[in-house]
Amino acid sequence: MSEVKFAKFGETSPVDLIKVLLEDKGFLSDVKKGDFVGIKIHVGERGNITHLRPQIVRTVVDLLKKRGAKPFIFDCNTLYRLGRWNAIDHHQTAYFNGFTFATVGAPFLVGDGIIGRDEITIKTNFNEVKEAYVGRIIEDIDYLFVISHFKFHDLFGYGGAIKNVGMGMASRRGKLYLHSDVKPRVLEEKCKLCGDCVRNCPEKAITLNRCATIDLKKCIGCGMCIVSCKEGAIKFNWDQDRNSAVKAVYYTKAIIDKIPKSSFLNVLMDITPHCDCFPTTMNLTVQNIGFLASKDIVAIDDASYHLVEEAKPLKGVGWKREELASKNKVKALFDNAADMNNYLKIAEDIGLGTRDYNLIEYKP
Ligand code: SF4
Ligand code: SF4
Repeated sequence: MSEVKFAKFGETSPVDLIKVLLEDKGFLSDVKKGDFVGIKIHVGERGNITHLRPQIVRTVVDLLKKRGAKPFIFDCNTLYRLGRWNAIDHHQTAYFNGFTFATVGAPFLVGDGIIGRDEITIKTNFNEVKEAYVGRIIEDIDYLFVISHFKFHDLFGYGGAIKNVGMGMASRRGKLYLHSDVKPRVLEEKCKLCGDCVRNCPEKAITLNRCATIDLKKCIGCGMCIVSCKEGAIKFNWDQDRNSAVKAVYYTKAIIDKIPKSSFLNVLMDITPHCDCFPTTMNLTVQNIGFLASKDIVAIDDASYHLVEEAKPLKGVGWKREELASKNKVKALFDNAADMNNYLKIAEDIGLGTRDYNLIEYKP
């Protein structure tokens, strides 16, 4: 059975809550002097202001340095062409969003090179995903510390630690593979020819004819058009058997097995209806909850998922089906997002972690 430590937000400063979680019972005792600790984060797209806060990262960096480690923060480039698709723009976005050395006390690195081609191939024993293409940076990481802003996600249902590792550490080729089953289609009768999807498509794959028309050869399956269409006229052609979330579980397993040591911190605050990839402001779905820490990536995502599902839904979010918001928030928001129960079970089956855990609440 695994352990998931939980510190609820209250009167204690969030910085102190993180210290309580990570310093208690030797949670970081496996961090050794001189370890290169790669702190996997998502710096948020430019224009997004609900991404992970730099102060949280700084607190973790300081704790790692206290143990004599050499921490750095990193992410890999995106497929879509906004502010993080190459290392130059990615750095500028990271600094713009507050992830400078002065703020977090560690350098920001891009894990798969200038344009996402600096990768390694990890062979796996799984028939479903035989090879994982991931940023080369993982070869030099002694210890992976994953900080994940837990929020909703159009494809994964929830974006947590598994999404952060399995999708976030994939190289460009890896991300293309993970997204390859997912292509959008336009519902002609709903399309009002407003052009919002055209303007938001990073690959210029959409033209306006009788209705918006998608060139599937150019489409990388990023989903920006779906979110930008206010008419709900674009849907995913969703392959239920081999979808992105399930494939990302196999990628996560390949990555976690490759790196000697790892820890996970999930941040349950500013829980938005979409990913930090979206360059927009968003209303929050539930009140801020707290921090979770664990050595088990499946347990921490499962615990985060249940805490958010059990929280009271807030108004003004744009729930598609408000009546479901208290029972199944993912279904209340999305038509086709993955069922987290489904891919967490697969994660458990392949030995990535367990959903059998103790949730230990800390009250400083
Ligand atoms: S955003 Fe929606 S309504 Fe507007 S053109 Fe695209 S598909 Fe049509
Ligand atoms: S058509 Fe939609 S999913 Fe495809 S690349 Fe453009 S925005 Fe992304």
